[in-house]
Amino acid sequence: MLRYVSTRGGISPVDFETAVLQGFAADGGMFVPQRIPKVSTQQLHEWSESSFQELAFEILSLYIDRTVIPAEDLKKLIRSSMAPFTHPDIIPVIPMSSPANRFAMELFHGPTLSFKDVAMGFLINTLEYFLERKKQTVSLLIATTGDTGPAAAHASCGKKNIDCWVLFPRRFITEEQQRQMTTLQAPNVHAVCVENCPGGGDDLDVVIARLFKDKTLVKKRHLSSVNSINWCRVMFQSIHYFYGYFQVVDYIGEQIAYSVPTGAFGNLFAGYLAREMGLPIQSFICANNQNAAIYRVHKTCSLSRETLKQTASNAIDIAVPYNFWRFLYFASGCNGHTVQNWMERYQLEGTVQFDQMMMAKIKNGFLSASISDDQVFSTIRKTFKGPDQYLLDPHGAVAVAAADELCHKLGDGVKIISLLTAHPAKFPNITRQVLKCGSVLPSQCIHASIEAAKGLFQQVKLSDCSCLESALINDISS
Ligand SMILES: *Cc1c(COP(=O)(O)O)cnc(C)c1O
Repeated sequence: MLRYVSTRGGISPVDFETAVLQGFAADGGMFVPQRIPKVSTQQLHEWSESSFQELAFEILSLYIDRTVIPAEDLKKLIRSSMAPFTHPDIIPVIPMSSPANRFAMELFHGPTLSFKDVAMGFLINTLEYFLERKKQTVSLLIATTGDTGPAAAHASCGKKNIDCWVLFPRRFITEEQQRQMTTLQAPNVHAVCVENCPGGGDDLDVVIARLFKDKTLVKKRHLSSVNSINWCRVMFQSIHYFYGYFQVVDYIGEQIAYSVPTGAFGNLFAGYLAREMGLPIQSFICANNQNAAIYRVHKTCSLSRETLKQTASNAIDIAVPYNFWRFLYFASGCNGHTVQNWMERYQLEGTVQFDQMMMAKIKNGFLSASISDDQVFSTIRKTFKGPDQYLLDPHGAVAVAAADELCHKLGDGVKIISLLTAHPAKFPNITRQVLKCGSVLPSQCIHASIEAAKGLFQQVKLSDCSCLESALINDISS
């Protein structure tokens, strides 16, 4: 049976159910599988015609033991999790007409129009499945920079064993994103607007991490989290790399590249996982915005913390790419001790230096770029005015701009799939500003669910960041 250990190496292996229910490992590390399952070329051939759901079943079966979730139940969980997606292909991959060999994968056809929906529905449904079986309840605490909160809130609606708390920093997210959390009118979903967090979502993560350190509180209130520290999410996100691959290659074995807008490194780690499993991916383009932690690792050989900048691509305004620890765990040869030392140094000094050998592993198959808001705006404009008349959201634009910048390093004819992680309707003000279209938004920027939320009252709890911890303890207790 495949079991799960911690990136810090300080726990005995646990099963999938425990890893999902706990979120964080007990030693403060993140859960990772003991080994990464391998997929043969034969299997790739067999999977190449599969639907997203069929592929999900095959891949998840490598990570989840049948004694933990029987096959029929797993199929049911996948089916119900993908049901809210409005596109028949779930995540369509579309060819872009210029330049050649470019593709875009639309990951935003879920209920809250971002790529977070892809894995969140499955995580919440799986949680509910385990809780129902154990006759337990849980209070989920989620800090959001824009898209995780809406996805979690939506997926939690009406779940009888889950109480969901979504916390967002005031003025760091768009009106549209906020309404996706505050207009749900579900008694088990609580939206909390937090004032005075200059560090944005990172400030909220600090509060949540402090709450989780209080073991008595965690036990008594059954606290858990569904940020991308939860193994279930990164695991599920590896599926779209396989699915996209099969849509664009001419033959199994062809090497392709992915350009990924990167914040916490969850999506990119999932890509790395897919490659380690055996998917032929030549390169990942790590597309940072101006909060460029990974880009700086490549340039300076150190992971360092810098003050957060607010950019047009707010969901990737993240100073600490915490899933990078998972990557470092595998890149260091599953050395929990080394990772723990790095994590401690990072905590104390705000920076970790890597030696040449480690840097070679970090850069192996990874390129990176740091994209400015100006580049984002010109990319949106160019793509919209171009032959496809395609309207990008600011995050997808970061990926496309990074692909433009780095494609010459990939070799001739290598296909690049840019991951489009949000629907432009979540960012009408940016569209307006970039296209100078006044009040008349292009139809690609309008979505029925966003329009519907405008006509509903918002229900929101307010707190100052300095009082958030006690307010949460009080409210969750009642
Ligand atoms: C979360 C998010 C990302 C970044 O994903 P990470 O796993 O944090 O790197 C990119 N784009 C959008 C729109 C997102 O919501």
